[in-house]
Amino acid sequence: MTETNPQRGNRLDPWLDSYATRAYGLRESETRSLFAVASRPEVVSLAGGMPNLKDLPLDALAEATARMIRKDGGRALQYGNGQGMPRLREQIPEVMALEGIDADPEDVVITTGSQQAVDIVTELFIDPGDVILTEAPTYVGSLSIFSTYQADIQQAPIDADGVIPEALEETIAGLERQGRRIKFFYCLPNFHNPAGVTLSEERRPQVIDICRRHHILIIEDNPYGLLDFQGRTHTALKTLAPDDVVYLGSFSKIFAPGYRVGWAVAPPAVREKMKLASEAAILCPSSVGQFSISTYLDNFDWRGQIEAFRTMYRRRRDAMVEALAEFMPMCTWNVPEGGFYVWVGLPDGLDAKEMLPRAVTNLVAYVSGTAFYAGGSAGRDHMRLSFCYPEPVDIREGVRRLSEVVAHDLDL
Ligand code: PMP
Repeated sequence: MTETNPQRGNRLDPWLDSYATRAYGLRESETRSLFAVASRPEVVSLAGGMPNLKDLPLDALAEATARMIRKDGGRALQYGNGQGMPRLREQIPEVMALEGIDADPEDVVITTGSQQAVDIVTELFIDPGDVILTEAPTYVGSLSIFSTYQADIQQAPIDADGVIPEALEETIAGLERQGRRIKFFYCLPNFHNPAGVTLSEERRPQVIDICRRHHILIIEDNPYGLLDFQGRTHTALKTLAPDDVVYLGSFSKIFAPGYRVGWAVAPPAVREKMKLASEAAILCPSSVGQFSISTYLDNFDWRGQIEAFRTMYRRRRDAMVEALAEFMPMCTWNVPEGGFYVWVGLPDGLDAKEMLPRAVTNLVAYVSGTAFYAGGSAGRDHMRLSFCYPEPVDIREGVRRLSEVVAHDLDL
């Protein structure tokens, strides 16, 4: 009989000594821990990146779903294909064609949101200590995955035109001089989360050329690409270098995140491994989610819905940048041409992380820039403001409240 060692674990968690090393790194992200306070009704939350679903035709969707279950319930409520539902894998290239990407249904792997696609890619390529290169800053949800796999996360700076090719090359060369091998470059070319910027057309082939020369796979994460406020599109890295890029897409921002349906398009050998890794993890993505989305794409004006989302988010972007100009002239910010986020630079000496509790007391929430960096104190001089969810009048009020906190910290 095994004796219980009273020294093991502690009262809060008797299994503390049993976790795998990777579990010790798991922490609630800065955005997650804010959710509870930020969702109080009196707080204007400029923190979360929740898509705004108020314009979705809920009654029509409910009827279509009911019809779909009646007609196809035997398949929609059953386990399905590990790579994803064949019909939806044919429809996804139609969505991608809007951005000029030519994808083969055979190369599509449907995932539980693009978040799972990031997870699978990381599982496939990263042993503990392996280097992943990202932009600085980058999407906090991917940083969480990368640290779970105990990656060594290195970041290359961006400016108003996205990642800076010279800096990317320098970062890679520096790592290679130390004998480090970079497994992939995780890149958000369109309407960056959190920085709101878009990689310029000029830089796209340069980024590809650099990664090719150093034999670095590119992970192109593009959930916001179709949300350009002027309806323009940008050349996908996938289009420029199909064999060097794993492309990630999602229905979360162009339809609804609750279905949890995203996808990857990968070169055939990688696609096969992704399919096997996904099957091992989840057997198959949600059949009912895939059937619902497939039904939506077949029966609704989804292109028109994307147009409507663009108009709605553009109005909110306008409300935010107008309010920033009116109330926060002491800060800097970019004017995003699509997506959900504005990246606000604070005046010298102010600290976004430290200021956050005062902002919440003043009934406004944001995400401190620190959440989007791999470590150290980087990002303290920035905050991410999301304009996707609140009404324009609330965005204005939120920015006004925030300006009071900034002014107080500046001792104005
Ligand atoms: N990538 C980026 C850049 C995101 O902003 C998000 C969601 N906020 C995701 C991936 C994950 O989205 P989903 O899993 O809903 O497709």
